[in-house]
Amino acid sequence: MTQAQVVVVGAGPAGMTAAAAAAEQGCEVVLLDDNPGPGGQIWRAGTAGSNDGEYAAKEKALARLQRSGAKILGGHRVFDAHARVSPDSPGTLLALRPDRTGSTAVRFAYNQIILATGARERFLPFPGWTLPGVLGAGGLQALVKGGFPVEGKRVLVAGTGPLLLAVAAHLKAYGAHVIGVAEQASLSRLAPFAASLWSNPAKIWQGLRYRAALLGVPYRTGCWPVAATGDGGYLQSVTLSDGKRTWQEPCDLLACGFHLVPNTELAVLMGCKLAGGFVKVDRRQQSSVPGVFCVGEPTGIAGLDAALVQGEIAGLGCAGKSSKALEARAAAERAFASRLEKAFALRPEVLKLARPETIVCRREDVPFGSLIGHTGWTDAKLQTRCGMGPCQGRICGPAVEALLGWAPVSVRPPIFPVPLSALCLAEESQPAEELKQSELLKENA
Ligand SMILES: Cc1cc2nc3c(=O)[nH]c(=O)nc-3n(C[C@H](O)[C@H](O)[C@H](O)COP(=O)(O)OP(=O)(O)OC[C@H]3O[C@@H](n4cnc5c(N)ncnc54)[C@H](O)[C@@H]3O)c2cc1C
Repeated sequence: MTQAQVVVVGAGPAGMTAAAAAAEQGCEVVLLDDNPGPGGQIWRAGTAGSNDGEYAAKEKALARLQRSGAKILGGHRVFDAHARVSPDSPGTLLALRPDRTGSTAVRFAYNQIILATGARERFLPFPGWTLPGVLGAGGLQALVKGGFPVEGKRVLVAGTGPLLLAVAAHLKAYGAHVIGVAEQASLSRLAPFAASLWSNPAKIWQGLRYRAALLGVPYRTGCWPVAATGDGGYLQSVTLSDGKRTWQEPCDLLACGFHLVPNTELAVLMGCKLAGGFVKVDRRQQSSVPGVFCVGEPTGIAGLDAALVQGEIAGLGCAGKSSKALEARAAAERAFASRLEKAFALRPEVLKLARPETIVCRREDVPFGSLIGHTGWTDAKLQTRCGMGPCQGRICGPAVEALLGWAPVSVRPPIFPVPLSALCLAEESQPAEELKQSELLKENA
């Protein structure tokens, strides 16, 4: 058992900042992430191809983290966690880390915990979305950061959200021939959002940088993919629609994602309340469970600046400190997040693309037609195995929620698949008082 005053789960920008801020205040901090090193999504692995500002921000955050004395443990995936049940007993969590024999489960005890687990992409099923050559937009970006070659390949970027621009710019910098960006949100929704940025010059600059990087690349609003077709099992073209007409775009790769969904599983497992699908926090990033803070994307999809300021607040909060100036900045970022959500809300057409034979749960090969007629998640899982693959519904869950309105019914440990030996350790560390999951989920819904 490793003991720490503060454990931070997730070493993206939010978790890195939180860990550094808490350690600078004299707390003994352990920072865990399932990736080998810190950085999270935006600062993942290499920063080659990133713009200068992004590179400098990562280097600065990393240097500060290393100076702070926080202990960084990469390759640790947290699969179970319990909040403190009384002031005299520590909270515990279990993580799986790879070793020479496969993997080992390790246990941590802490006084305070900061959840900084980030977000993932939302995928919506449409005919052909499971073809090789169709990838998540952020997923393809991550592959390219890891060395996947896209030079000279025709790439169409489609879906919704600001991430599409970041990905398109990144792919172009790596030599891809980006044939266009298809954004499902209409111009009439995006224009007020863009106008509202006047008070935030940094975000305007970021947008302008992407536009400059994508000079010559068509950016179509009110446009979405309706089908992907291939020959010999590989993507050849994508059919786009603007609601009035449809046309085909021949391409080698489709980078597609419909904004982001927060990774709230660990927070829900620990008993934290949600509001509107996000972890409910107060102005000090404290969740509804004492001693459990939450920062970054699980509290609202708001981007890098929000992640950094929230991390700062939670780090100070662990040392019993606060800053009115930081809280004001976080409030402004929250307002930005709700404008973002409104601007990139899904249009009804993209929720009607799946045909009866379109696969929804690709891990268990469950077509859309077989979900129709079920009363909800539990019924559908029992009858079809939808959401019961190794990703535990992380991909199809948000899609099914968007398509059929079924909210998740339970979050149970382990939140990631683990070997039996890890479950034995989990059994030993059960606290006396069980979390009342079903009651909490009802309240969160
Ligand atoms: C695929 C993807 C690509 C993105 N690319 C960009 C981009 O290019 N530009 C941009 O501006 N924004 C990008 N974003 C948005 C970006 O993530 C946010 O703007 C912001 O950086 C979020 O920071 P964060 O610290 O909250 O989360 P993240 O950066 O997502 O960090 C969360 C970390 O927690 C780890 N984690 C989660 N659960 C566990 C667990 N149980 N155990 C251990 N570790 C765990 C994750 O592996 C991750 O490293 C991307 C988002 C996604 C999902």
